[in-house]
Amino acid sequence: QFGLSALVQTIKESPTLAVSSRAAKLKSEGRDIIGLGVGEPDFDTPQHIKEAAKQAIDSGFTKYTPVSGIPGLKKAIVAKFKRDNGFDYGVNEVIVGVGGKQCIFNLALAVLNPGDEVIVPAPYWVSYADIAMVAGAKPVIINCGIEQGFKLLPAQLEAAITPKTRMFMINSPSNPTGSVYSLAELQALGEVLKRHPQVLVATDDMYEHVNLSGEKFHNILNAAPELKARCVVLNGVSKAYSMTGWRIGYAAGPAHIIKAMEVLQSQSTSNPTSISQVAAQAALDGPQQCIEPMLVAFRARHDYVVDRFNAMPGLKCIRAGGAFYAFPDAREAIVRLHAAGKISAPNDLALSEYFLESAGVAVVPGSAFGAEGYFRISFATSMDNLRNALDRIQSALS
Ligand code: PLP
Repeated sequence: QFGLSALVQTIKESPTLAVSSRAAKLKSEGRDIIGLGVGEPDFDTPQHIKEAAKQAIDSGFTKYTPVSGIPGLKKAIVAKFKRDNGFDYGVNEVIVGVGGKQCIFNLALAVLNPGDEVIVPAPYWVSYADIAMVAGAKPVIINCGIEQGFKLLPAQLEAAITPKTRMFMINSPSNPTGSVYSLAELQALGEVLKRHPQVLVATDDMYEHVNLSGEKFHNILNAAPELKARCVVLNGVSKAYSMTGWRIGYAAGPAHIIKAMEVLQSQSTSNPTSISQVAAQAALDGPQQCIEPMLVAFRARHDYVVDRFNAMPGLKCIRAGGAFYAFPDAREAIVRLHAAGKISAPNDLALSEYFLESAGVAVVPGSAFGAEGYFRISFATSMDNLRNALDRIQSALS
């Protein structure tokens, strides 16, 4: 067998994608599996967005585009940042990538050197740590459990920063917890960051519009505008407009960093798909009310799921401010099930395996997000599926 690189052997497959493909495989073998693993809205992409893409195809807009994105989309991104966030970016300070994931990837490669440290509060989105490692950097994971609302405290941030810290990742609303930082909490983190000019702030706002609480969204730059010269804002159309398969994300930040990300992109994927860029432009420039029906459904499901989990033995689940995930603390249930001989080991992997094998429900173990003892479900699926899945989990726990 031909040997693999040392680099690729330090990286793992995205665990959420792995759970989804395992559930799909069991289903194809005829097993009755409800998949709550996948993190994508279960709605169709709004019609006006699809129409824009069809028109792009029919008019022959099917060739290479500028690497950093078509001018119309970049202008729409600049306008979005002004409209939604009050930020002033020029078109040379934004870039379009192949999904939010590629933007984060390019950012890491553009600013990190081997040995640099990247602060990642846990629970974290599965890819942050591995992306940092691809760039040769060391993820520094800080535990932020349910007791602190899954949010990083300023003292924890201060304690984690060293002269080698080069980047701080913040994700609000959070995948997997749904936690949202308040303006005051962001201000307090901003105060710490202001004292450490070697640290770049990467804020992943992918779930900005999946706003369950209805409270105004705040980014760390709203709280600490002084950080703008060393902050990169990451966002995308995947979750807001149910466009996960179109693969369009974007980033805004200092022009020289954006330029470096463009150089990397020019040597990897070149431009994102021309047709998808036109669709993303229609999403950002078009009527924003198309998000509302999805939010109505997500809010109802959220309330249902959180109430049900809290009524189950050994689970504790806090309310989410955004995104479409619930992240129950299952530590008590794990201890009990293990003592009763129902799960093979006292951990969340064994619990998830038990849910899959004996209840036919696919969830993602918390350790995939750096939080042992929890599990994540996505409620981006029908109420019927949720009802059914929660009944099954409940009987597995009883
Ligand atoms: N950031 C967060 C927090 C996410 O949850 C995801 C997708 O799951 C992404 C970024 C990547 O989004 P995209 O599908 O646009 O690459």
